Amino acid sequence: MFDLTGQVALVTGGAKGIGKGIARVLANAGATVIIADIDEAAGKTSAKELGAHYFYLDVSNQESCKQVVAAVKRDFGQLDILCSNTGIFPQCNLATMTEQHWDEMHNINLKGTFFMVQAALEVMRTRGYGRIVITSSITGPVTGFPGWSHYAASKAGQLGFMRSAALECARDGITINAVMPGNILTEGLQAQGEDYLAQMRAAIPTHTLGTPDDIGHAACFLASREARYITGQTLIVDGGQILPESPEAIQ
Ligand code: NAD
Repeated sequence: MFDLTGQVALVTGGAKGIGKGIARVLANAGATVIIADIDEAAGKTSAKELGAHYFYLDVSNQESCKQVVAAVKRDFGQLDILCSNTGIFPQCNLATMTEQHWDEMHNINLKGTFFMVQAALEVMRTRGYGRIVITSSITGPVTGFPGWSHYAASKAGQLGFMRSAALECARDGITINAVMPGNILTEGLQAQGEDYLAQMRAAIPTHTLGTPDDIGHAACFLASREARYITGQTLIVDGGQILPESPEAIQ
């Protein structure tokens, strides 16, 4: 689609699911791809499969985020693209939600985004070039779902963070944008159970779940040189899920 030859891309949470789809599309576009993930076994397997590289990463740990970016700079000389994709989505109703549930969600989804973007910006600024693509969600910024109030807050928070961060690096040749997936068939989504998946298929106008590569293609566009004049924006990739005004509007 877009030519990323000679570019170095770091994809967090790239061992599985959407991150792996992003890693695959970027690698196919010619980028040198580094998968950074807490799951070492899956990370190494996916890296081998895609002709990519693997580094251990825990996004909730600032030192780990700094070390990964430093290792990319050391081994590959530059960092052109960061896809900050890691996220978790365990469900928990408010009635039983503890501070620990809340903190775990935000430590990974929101604080992890801050840690990774801050670390990447430092390296990108030295070359005056960078593309950052955050994986947010429709859940939170646009829609809601019982059991996901903490998740929804983290995903909406990522967008608020992005808009101000985009302004801070606008004159440095660096753009920050976000993809907002709908329901994409990944290991994480599968864990929500068959009832949930059936409910979602019925709510999506195409009646199909998305694939990780669908998000990969959107991320690849925002990560390309050609998207240089787009910053602080969002791209919903959801098969039209947010469109219907009523269930009857779906054919
Ligand atoms: P997934 O669970 O299939 O994969 C997530 C990956 O992140 C795994 O490889 C996991 O090992 C890694 N990870 C988890 N904790 C980590 C940590 N602390 N440090 C580093 N890596 C860690 O999830 P997915 O469905 O591919 O979701 C990826 C992103 O897309 C998330 O940000 C999620 O919120 C977002 N999203 C997913 C969907 C969907 O339908 N699947 C929809 C909207 C948004």
